[in-house]
Amino acid sequence: MKIKSKNKPIIGISSNLLLIDQGPFVGQKRIYVNQGYVDSVIKAGGTPILLPMLENSDAILSQLTLIDGLILSGGHDVDPSHYGEEPHPLLQEILPERDAFEMNLLKNAHKQKKPIFGICRGLQLMNVFFGGTLYQDLSLRPTNKEVKHLHREMSNLHSHQIELEPEGLLHKIFGAKNIVTNSFHHQAIKDLAPGFAVLARAQDGLIESIARTDSHWTVGVQWHPEIMMHDSHTDMQKLFEAFIDASTKV
Ligand code: MN
Repeated sequence: MKIKSKNKPIIGISSNLLLIDQGPFVGQKRIYVNQGYVDSVIKAGGTPILLPMLENSDAILSQLTLIDGLILSGGHDVDPSHYGEEPHPLLQEILPERDAFEMNLLKNAHKQKKPIFGICRGLQLMNVFFGGTLYQDLSLRPTNKEVKHLHREMSNLHSHQIELEPEGLLHKIFGAKNIVTNSFHHQAIKDLAPGFAVLARAQDGLIESIARTDSHWTVGVQWHPEIMMHDSHTDMQKLFEAFIDASTKV
């Protein structure tokens, strides 16, 4: 008799869009994600697939039938019109078709109770979709304690500390009160969406991680664990493993 191998959950990773501006394919659009997302899913025991941006709702539902868990990956700023604000001069590039695609994915993944893991932009999109707001730029935040959140170099693996909410999900996953994360964001959560709890904050009080309190596994992080994992910061594997576990059919 054949021994059944453990089912590896299929993880859909929402993809980004690049407009090619040189070479033979100038003017073409290319879909992509950073390799770290793919590697992190594989290392944690899942099988990654990329989800290209689609407009058609039926086609998006078909994409969802293929996956057991969803990663909303990093990228552009979320269009502030989704949280009722005009664009501030410090807003960076937006990609409205990606907002529309990912919000559709998120809405249906949520309905179908598929685990959702939002990373950086993914956390921000999740917060906005469920009724929260963002600071369009961190300089717009009233604070008397400054922590640098926007690093330009990938070598900044250990940018800042975050404090994990006692007894919260991250506290349980990492088994520590504080961890160190990287930080590549110029926006952050202003008002937390209803139905979510804060799992971690930076020392300036900024929200660095959230999770839904009334639903299945739905977690967002403001840092890039996939880059840390790519650089052998193995602690972050625990986070991906928790997501893969939640996505594994029993
Ligand atoms: Mn940060």
